[in-house]
Amino acid sequence: MDFSTVELSPEDEAFRSEVREFLSSIVTEDVIRRDRETGDNFDEGVHLALGSAGYLEKEWKTEADGGFSRVRRRIWELEKRRAEVPWVTWGTTAMVARSVAKFASPEIRDDVLRGVFDGTVRLCLGYTEPEGGSDVATCKTRAIRDGDQWVINGSKMFTTGAHNCQYVFLITNTDPDAPKHKSLTMFLVPLDSDGIEIQGIRTVDGDRTNIVYYSDVRVDDKYRLGDVNGGWTVVREPLDAEHGAVAAADDGLADVAIMMHQAGFMAEAADNVAALVGRSGAVDDGSVAYRLGRSVARLEASLSSPSIFGRVALAQTMRDIAPDLMDIAGSVAALPIGADGGADDRSEYVYRFAPLVGIYGGTLEVFRNMIAQHVLGLGKPNYSAPKAKAS
Ligand SMILES: Cc1cc2nc3c(=O)[nH]c(=O)nc-3n(C[C@H](O)[C@H](O)[C@H](O)COP(=O)(O)OP(=O)(O)OC[C@H]3O[C@@H](n4cnc5c(N)ncnc54)[C@H](O)[C@@H]3O)c2cc1C
Repeated sequence: MDFSTVELSPEDEAFRSEVREFLSSIVTEDVIRRDRETGDNFDEGVHLALGSAGYLEKEWKTEADGGFSRVRRRIWELEKRRAEVPWVTWGTTAMVARSVAKFASPEIRDDVLRGVFDGTVRLCLGYTEPEGGSDVATCKTRAIRDGDQWVINGSKMFTTGAHNCQYVFLITNTDPDAPKHKSLTMFLVPLDSDGIEIQGIRTVDGDRTNIVYYSDVRVDDKYRLGDVNGGWTVVREPLDAEHGAVAAADDGLADVAIMMHQAGFMAEAADNVAALVGRSGAVDDGSVAYRLGRSVARLEASLSSPSIFGRVALAQTMRDIAPDLMDIAGSVAALPIGADGGADDRSEYVYRFAPLVGIYGGTLEVFRNMIAQHVLGLGKPNYSAPKAKAS
């Protein structure tokens, strides 16, 4: 790992000031308050402003294609986090847009990408179904061909951002008799199609996600991505990206693991709680100092854990230290952020957020199995019942 400091050129420093000023002008207190109320993690005004200023396109494209240089990309990402730009829907949009660029028919590709760059087109992920999400290839949502169209029936659970998006990147089953990885076909389904019903769900941390029902939804074949029954090839890349199973750039300018954004809330809560007990003098109590020190040590270790290990370490640490942080802060931590008389230390939010961070994009159990199997070479997990002891 490279811990050296990056010296910014005067131009890059000017870029940092420019984006800091721009972001603070669009991510207002009103935006933050509204986002907490809706749980959307998306603000259309902010998103359109980012699009019309050209930032979405620059973030999405590589430097060779006219995007940010590596240093500016890093500055941009850090400044966005500092400003608390709502991030979820751009995350799914950027990921799916890569599959659109690679697999969409020319009839829709350029239009969709143009909209992605100016912010008017947003894309969400329709993988998980009510009966299970860990194994996305076990898909029951059916698509049946009818001439130049497909008829889709089924339901998808946790389609985050669907109500703010124009298309869903939908996994469907087009051949129930085939082996599961050869039965899938991907579509970019327009969310204003007849037969789609989006119902909101609020999660324990206040985020909004959705269950989406598809009843006889008709989709033109031009919205198919990749080959019929070749959906696994299309969906593998975004799944790997979401799992953080892609090699990090070795220039030290990338996050060491995915979910660093979420980890930032944990780091902030730890800082806030340390400041709180420092001010109150409670830190002089040996047990408070010990538990705070242990939490910060765990936090630092998780922030330094790379790739797939980092994904597990961050989410597990969040789960483990959030109760300690709340306890150390005392009864004031029971009040949510923004509540009268609260300390706004965020430990309470991190406590509610932690379970989700270990679920979406793949659960911790699934990730631990991936590490065991693919990194440690321990073979496939064996879920059979233990053998009865010989009597
Ligand atoms: C806030 C939030 C947002 C989400 N957003 C989206 C989204 O935008 N689009 C989308 O498609 N999905 C989304 N998801 C769904 C998410 O990806 C799934 O919840 C996750 O993959 C787990 O699937 P599941 O909930 O169906 O649990 P299941 O797969 O049913 O698992 C149940 C339990 O069994 C365990 N388990 C399952 N398989 C294994 C295994 N092989 N080895 C060991 N243990 C196993 C799991 O760890 C878990 O504890 C979101 C989820 C949340 C909570």
